[in-house]
Amino acid sequence: MSELDARGVDVTFGATRALDSVDLRVDPGRILALVGPSGSGKSTFLRAVAGFVTPDAGTIRVGGRTLVGDGHTVPPERRGLGMVFQHHAVWPHMSVAENVGYPLRRARWNRADREKRVSEVLATVELADFADRAPDTLSGGQRQRVSLARALVARPDVLLLDEALSALDEPLRANLRLMLRRLAAENELTMVHVTHDRDEALAIGDQVAVLDRGRLVQAGSPAELDSSPNSEFVARFLHDAACVPGRMGDDGFRSDDGGLLVPTQALDFPSGPVHGPAHLALTPHGVELAAQPTGDAVLPVEVVTSLYGRAGRTVICRSGDLEIRVLTQERDYVQATARGVRVRRGFVYSR
Ligand code: ADP
Repeated sequence: MSELDARGVDVTFGATRALDSVDLRVDPGRILALVGPSGSGKSTFLRAVAGFVTPDAGTIRVGGRTLVGDGHTVPPERRGLGMVFQHHAVWPHMSVAENVGYPLRRARWNRADREKRVSEVLATVELADFADRAPDTLSGGQRQRVSLARALVARPDVLLLDEALSALDEPLRANLRLMLRRLAAENELTMVHVTHDRDEALAIGDQVAVLDRGRLVQAGSPAELDSSPNSEFVARFLHDAACVPGRMGDDGFRSDDGGLLVPTQALDFPSGPVHGPAHLALTPHGVELAAQPTGDAVLPVEVVTSLYGRAGRTVICRSGDLEIRVLTQERDYVQATARGVRVRRGFVYSR
């Protein structure tokens, strides 16, 4: 049971700042989900922890032991970490048990201990009956569980998962999310799970950290990120927020075109108080459809289309250049009726 502590980690590739002074801490036995758009530096962070990339600056410690920083670097094979990638790397010429036992053979465990540990870990990933099978007779989800078992077999201090579920289809993917949560809790295993999928990040992480162009922009519990995105970027990335340009004044937020006034009591300021030029971020949960294009806190819109979802129907509306998503509880929404969007709750950020 070990904590992971990264401080001031910088990584540059030529002119690209892949990580810019990143601080991240994961408590022992907890899962950190690292999320962000493609190219934001997620894999680079994992590779820096694993030892495949050496940071230009910063320190990374696991359980108080320095892996990199303070003038020294521990080689990857001595870091005591497990890693699982998007595309499972199981060897086709070895059985499931041989694949899983391979790291122990390299570490020169004796045969009896090896067999005992391999069957233990295969049971953990629910593959006890598959020990003698050849990997090419398994499904994608089963093969990914072989990779997971192999990453776990030597009892790593920290498990690093790089888009490890991204190649799997539902419902397998959902089952593996549950398995990871169970493994973390039962084995008090610290995990970093990298994903570009925001719903997966919120579902799986005890803590969620959002990266944007190499910088850590917000970290917190899933509920904190969900209810209080601290920047326009996070509001857009996590919530598909539409951002209306305008100004914050004494009576509330007024859009630049003058058509929308939202009173202060309907507004939240997750990044602190705002005066003057501002953006109002509208999330699908914070707005509702209005029959008329005018009224208090109403923006005139045209309905474009809608998408069915289990949490309700998402109606896509257009107001000038802005695309606004509205979550409704109506299942069979008839799109012709709405002509406005009313703001019930909005986030305001300085611009
Ligand atoms: P993510 O995992 O979030 O998609 P990456 O960590 O892979 O992002 O990449 C972060 C940035 O660093 C990107 O701009 C990427 O092009 C760049 N990068 C990553 N690895 C290398 C490399 N080996 N050489 C040059 N540039 C790289």
